[in-house]
Amino acid sequence: MKDKKKLTTASGKPYFENEDSMTVGARGPILLQDYHLHEKLAHFNRERIPERVVHAKGTGAFGTFKVTNDIAKYTKAKLFSKVGNSCKVLVRFSTVGGEKGSADTERDPRGYAVKFYTEEGNWDLVGNNTPVFFIKDPKKFPDFVHTQKRDPKTNLKSPTMMWDYWSLNPESLHQVVILFSDRGTPDGYRKMNGYGSHTFSMINIENERVWVKFHFKTQQGNKTLTDAEAEILKGKDPDYAQRDFVEAIAKGDFPKWKLKIQVMTEDQAKTFKWNPFDVTKVWSHSEYPLIDAGIMELNEIPSNYFADVEQAAFAPAHTIDGIGLSHDKMLQGRILAYPDAHRHRLGANYEQIPVNRPINEVHTHQRDGYMSVEGNGGDNPNYFPNSFDNIEADKNYKEPAMKLDSNIADTYDRNENDDDYYTQPGDLFRKVMTDKERKNTVSNIVGAMSGIMGAKRDKIIHRQLSHFYKADKELALSITQGLNFNFKK
Ligand code: NDP
Repeated sequence: MKDKKKLTTASGKPYFENEDSMTVGARGPILLQDYHLHEKLAHFNRERIPERVVHAKGTGAFGTFKVTNDIAKYTKAKLFSKVGNSCKVLVRFSTVGGEKGSADTERDPRGYAVKFYTEEGNWDLVGNNTPVFFIKDPKKFPDFVHTQKRDPKTNLKSPTMMWDYWSLNPESLHQVVILFSDRGTPDGYRKMNGYGSHTFSMINIENERVWVKFHFKTQQGNKTLTDAEAEILKGKDPDYAQRDFVEAIAKGDFPKWKLKIQVMTEDQAKTFKWNPFDVTKVWSHSEYPLIDAGIMELNEIPSNYFADVEQAAFAPAHTIDGIGLSHDKMLQGRILAYPDAHRHRLGANYEQIPVNRPINEVHTHQRDGYMSVEGNGGDNPNYFPNSFDNIEADKNYKEPAMKLDSNIADTYDRNENDDDYYTQPGDLFRKVMTDKERKNTVSNIVGAMSGIMGAKRDKIIHRQLSHFYKADKELALSITQGLNFNFKK
């Protein structure tokens, strides 16, 4: 038939047989010279790349981001230079603690990573569905994440490890209260908000900097699962969130989020009640109102999951001109850690993989390394400066200097005069949650803390209750009652 394609080996040789190996006689043995057999088995053995240490289970889609409001007074980013500008995006949603095959409805933050393919490079906003995080210093990250993974002996998830850590690290409290509220089990990925979480900066055409937080507000309405519903779905449909997401897009029901920003001037930052670069805190909406920036619609499931989702490499280090970093310590740690993880999983040339490739031309003097698949710079010079390639380092792209409030380089100060771990989680519980949400939050915490076991059980519970008490007395007393905990023991 005319349009039939010929089977080939990976090196392109048309091959006549794809099921039976070459043998001596019909019953074997198999001959070593059946290269096609080796190729099939050898490639199969190498199908898996390291799974992400965190955020292993995920799903993704392409879509469009469109600017709906003029924020050019804050940023000179070309993308935001005109209302109506748009660009292609890739979004990857994920759970955090579970492995690649784990259940989607676990109580866990959800990863919310966006890659904006702009004409001035890729801008990655790599956040979560929560505005804060468990820790504010990256040095704590491996310890914290170990408590969310499996016990080194039993290889089981361990509430004892989790609560032991949280009770010893009170800065986690805000994120813990959010995690155990209804929002800790979102109903799929479409009906949840996303947050850049960190403080970033925007730089305008006058080279003036403001501090910025990013919020993606779901246009599908916030919808959550109860603990009981989430529990049932873990068994019934471990891929619940992925299924909901791909099926909605397949039938043309494209999910949308509004992108909004909060803006803080450098002067306001000096007098802010807390450290504005502390990722365990939010900026109140009433003091720093949300400003519309754009709308994002997701409308295309990649035709190959491995190519475009498993190999997608998001990094907070990927910013564009007009959008910058801040001295948020967690952000600074992630600037290092994410590209490092990608180099480990995908190799030094991970940005040459089509899904990670910027749409504009890239001019570097980096060469070689595994899988250099873009021509490797051809015969252009591999050094800088040189007399040949006309590549200039354009000083117009220099950001204004970052003003710091200290020049002492050996402060390992845990508290940094900013150890109020309690006001914001207390406000969330008292002022934002409804009665029903408060009740659910208490019951979710009681359920989880009931799993604390072993000789240190009472000590851990006591310590954690004292943190809840400092945030909100009713919260602590309700949990104490729910656990039937006796302080005198
Ligand atoms: P607001 O009343 O102005 O806003 C409350 C925010 O909380 C809304 O963005 C709402 O999202 C979100 N929210 C509601 N329930 C939960 C929950 N269970 N977990 C996480 N977020 C939730 O309050 P303030 O700005 O004064 O902040 C009060 C508290 O609200 C904070 O301490 C913080 O815990 C929480 N919060 C604040 C955010 C901020 O950036 N200021 C962002 C998210 C949470 P939505 O409007 O989409 O329903």
